[in-house]
Amino acid sequence: MERLQKAIAASGLTSRRKAEDLIRQGRVKVNGEVVSELGFKVKQGDLILVDDKALEGENKVYYVFYKPKGCICSLNDELGRETVIDYFSDVKERIYPVGRLDYDTTGLLLMTNDGEFANLMMHPSSHLEKVYEVTVTGLVNGETLHKLEKGIYLEGVKTLPCKIKVVGKDNEHKTTMLMIKLVEGKNRQVKKMFETMGHNVKRLHRVQVGGINLKGLKPGRYRILKPQEVKELK
Ligand code: URA
Repeated sequence: MERLQKAIAASGLTSRRKAEDLIRQGRVKVNGEVVSELGFKVKQGDLILVDDKALEGENKVYYVFYKPKGCICSLNDELGRETVIDYFSDVKERIYPVGRLDYDTTGLLLMTNDGEFANLMMHPSSHLEKVYEVTVTGLVNGETLHKLEKGIYLEGVKTLPCKIKVVGKDNEHKTTMLMIKLVEGKNRQVKKMFETMGHNVKRLHRVQVGGINLKGLKPGRYRILKPQEVKELK
């Protein structure tokens, strides 16, 4: 934890005194909220914007992480649960996840300290492709698949067309394994889509985001993205 003005000055943007002025003038946001209080403390992973631009200064770093089950993507949790940041104790930059996977969802999560990159990836217009393996209760029929692929209404908003493939059916336990490819990422979207059609999600695993996959990674491990891979995501 360090004072906001110190973190701004440490980025090389300006002196600590000038950073205090910026804060007083309401030009500084932390995690999307204007902070005008000088004593405010920031911690690793907080996103600091000055005049809506992410702080420069730190090297931009980009990782692909294999999120295990049972950890959360927000950076602090009042329940004291494990967070994805706990797996990056040897990384000194203030990184944070690009988007979210649920507590019980496993798989591919991009992590960075590049606010502009993160915003670009998460923006609805990015249409970034995400591929999930999903196991649901019940035997999913063709009509349901067709409806899901065309788009269904979730809280009054229609989902964009997506692609779904059935990869297996377990007639004994009455479950279906599928692959779903989405170009959007609303909160709990995959679970809500299947729940709306009467199928609960038993397992959800993200295997791919854009051209990035999990090859060579084990749960809880990460690797640095190559500059070319970052370029191709943008
Ligand atoms: N959709 C969900 O429902 N949960 C996730 O974690 C990711 C996508």
